[in-house]
Amino acid sequence: MMEELSSGSSDYAASTWIAWFLSTKGNEYFCELDEDYILDRFNLTGLNTEVQHYMHALDLITDALDEHLGDEQREQIEAQARILYGLVHARYILTTRGLAKMLEKYKRADFGRCPRVLCSQQPLLPVGLSDLPYQNPVKLYCPRCEDLYSPKSSRHASIDGAFFGTTFPHMLLMVYPHMIPVKTTSLPQTPTSANAPKQAYGGVSADALHQRALALEQQNQLLSPSEDVSSESGANGNTRPFADSAPRPSTAQGAPAVPHVERLIPRIFGFPVETATQSNCTD
Ligand SMILES: [Zn+2]
Repeated sequence: MMEELSSGSSDYAASTWIAWFLSTKGNEYFCELDEDYILDRFNLTGLNTEVQHYMHALDLITDALDEHLGDEQREQIEAQARILYGLVHARYILTTRGLAKMLEKYKRADFGRCPRVLCSQQPLLPVGLSDLPYQNPVKLYCPRCEDLYSPKSSRHASIDGAFFGTTFPHMLLMVYPHMIPVKTTSLPQTPTSANAPKQAYGGVSADALHQRALALEQQNQLLSPSEDVSSESGANGNTRPFADSAPRPSTAQGAPAVPHVERLIPRIFGFPVETATQSNCTD
C-alpha cells in the first residue's frame, strides 16, 4: 500500500480521501496531513471523545474503510471524518513539518491578503478564537496590522476555527521570525534594525521588540489606576501609526486645543500583560 502510494502515478494520489478533501472547494486553507502522523495514535489522543464514529472516520481518512455501509451511514461518517481531519490538522500544523507546509501556503497567500491599504497586500494567517470545535469560525490574522479579519468567501468563513487553533500564527512567526513583516505603525527604530535592510520582509529585530516591550511596560507603570489616560502624553508619542502616511506638519498633530485625542491603544504582541507584574496596582 505504502509502496504503491509513493511510486504510483499522480492519478492514484488524487484518489485518496485526503487528496479528495484538499481538492474540494472551500478547503484551500488546509494543508495535507502526513499519513504517518494520522496513524500515530499518540497524535490523536482525546479526539475519540470529540468525534462520533471515530474509528470509521479515521479509517475513511486513511482509506481503510470497508465498503459495506449504507449511504446514510457513510454520509454521517464522511461529516465526522471532515471534523476529525480538522482537529488533527490543528495539531499537525504546530509540528515542524506542518509549519513548513503552512509557511508555503502563507507565502503563496493561500489565506488571502489584508484588505487594509497600508498593509500593502500582506498575506494573512488563519487563526481560531477557540481550540474547542463548534465555538467560532476561523479568522484571518494580519501580521502587519495585527488585526483579525473574517474570510471573504462564505465557504471559508464557515470553517471551524478549532481546525487551526489559537496558537498557530504565533507559532509560525516564532519559528520563522524573518516572516514577521515591518509594522505599519511607526516603531521606535533602533539603529540596528534601520541598518539591516537585507531581509526581504524586513523582520523586526529582537532589539526592536525588546524596546517596544519596555515602552509598553513604562506606559503601564505610568497608568496608575486613579490617574486618567489624559495625564500622560510623552510616553507613547513615538509609537503612533503615522509611518506610511504623508508627512504631517508637526503643528497640526500637536495642536494645543486637542492634545490627547489620538491616543494610541497599546498593542500587546500575542500575550496579555500579566497583572502580577503590575505590582503597584492594588485592587
Ligand atoms: Zn493588515
